[in-house]
This record gives sequence, C-alpha cells and structure tokens, in this order.
Amino acid sequence: MVTKTATSSDSTAPKSAFPGECEAPTVAFDPGHNGQSISVFDKTTGVEMRDYPNGAEDGDVFAVATIAKRGLEHAGYTVVMLKKSTAESVTYRERVNRAERAGADVGISIHTSPGEHSVFDQRLGGYREGTGADGTPLRVTFSNAAIAKQSGQMSTKFAAGRSRVEGRQVNVVQNNFGGRAPLWAGDLPMISLISQKVPWVYSEFGTSDGAGGANPIGSDNRNLYAKAIVAGVKAALPNRCRS
Ligand SMILES: [Zn+2]
Repeated sequence: MVTKTATSSDSTAPKSAFPGECEAPTVAFDPGHNGQSISVFDKTTGVEMRDYPNGAEDGDVFAVATIAKRGLEHAGYTVVMLKKSTAESVTYRERVNRAERAGADVGISIHTSPGEHSVFDQRLGGYREGTGADGTPLRVTFSNAAIAKQSGQMSTKFAAGRSRVEGRQVNVVQNNFGGRAPLWAGDLPMISLISQKVPWVYSEFGTSDGAGGANPIGSDNRNLYAKAIVAGVKAALPNRCRS
C-alpha cells in the first residue's frame, strides 16, 4: 500500500489539474536469520548464501520488526517485512528481490548480538571471498558507488537516531567475518553485498551484560530496540509527506 498525500497549495490551479502528490517512503525490514540452515549459491553474483537459525535472536528480531513496523506505519510510512514468519526459509537473494518488488527506499536488516550495538553500511570495496559452486576461489566486491553513498549517509543518520533513543553511542563500523568458517571471509554482510538497487542498513543490538544473539534480550529491550529503529528510520529517511 502506498500512502499518498496531496501537497499542492496553489489555489489558482483548476481542480482538474494534477495535484502535487507525495509518496511516503517505503521501508523493507529484514528480521534476522533464516528459519532453517541453508546454503544456496547466488546465480547473479556466485556467492554462497549460508544462513542458520540463531536461537532467541530469531523471535527477538521478528518481534522488534513487528513493533517498529507499527510505529512507522503510524507515521505514514509503508513497511514491508522480508520474512513472513520466524520459521520461513528465504534466501538473501529472495529477500532482496522482495525489497525491490516493493519499491523499497531502504532495506534494514535487524539483528541482535551480545555486546554489539552498531550499524554496518554497504561500504564501497566491501567484499566476501570463499569457494564458489564450481569449487574454485571467488571474491565478490561491492562496487556500486551510488548505492554505497546512499547507504553510508542513511547508516550514519540511522545510527544517530538509535543513539538518541538508546542513550549510548551507536557507531557505523565495518563488519569482519574472518574466522567464522564456513561463512565466507570478508567485511560485508551477504545481503548488503548482493543488493544492487536498494541501499541497505544492517543493524545490530546487544547489551553489555551479554543479551543478544542466542541469548534473549527481554521485552524491555525489544521495545527499546524497536523505538530506536523507528527513530533511526525517521532520521535516515524523513517522511516529507507529513509536517
Ligand atoms: Zn544475527
């Protein structure tokens, strides 16, 4: 559903003229890991899309995304979920396809991890490398400068919005997948690497006492994270259809 609001204030225009129309931003939420362990090679880039359930994180981030969706819809945004349920099995490529089909202005991956509160952008030159489907080494690099720039700007604003709500500094940092075999080495989340049309923001939330990832974050932190994501999206992608 697209929310449109007339913004024309030109009182001299005849009623039959096309009014100025305003299309609210569309946000795609990617709530965490896959419902089952999968390993599929992406036909477009050749990367191995490996994912797995991760205990409490799966229910936590699905709940967070659902709460944040309501908050953004209340503010006029269109929000699509890239997973229908925690149990659904859907590759990174299919998630990206769903975001593109929805005409998303941004994709936001929502994760938790113990002690981690940070944001990863689609950095130019970011990469993953490993063994391709044919058994030979493959390195895939993110080289879309326009999308990288958008992702970088939105990630910075998103992190600032989160910081205000969470009352702590959330930084935009580079990920590191080294030493996490069988995951491919490198520094970009796979979903960020393969999204070439929709700028992506990858969000991690955890607490200093070890909540996050497979350890549940609890309902207070679910609500806090959701509120922080709403603030982050509003900062990164203001809905200019509303004053
Ligand atoms: Zn995760």
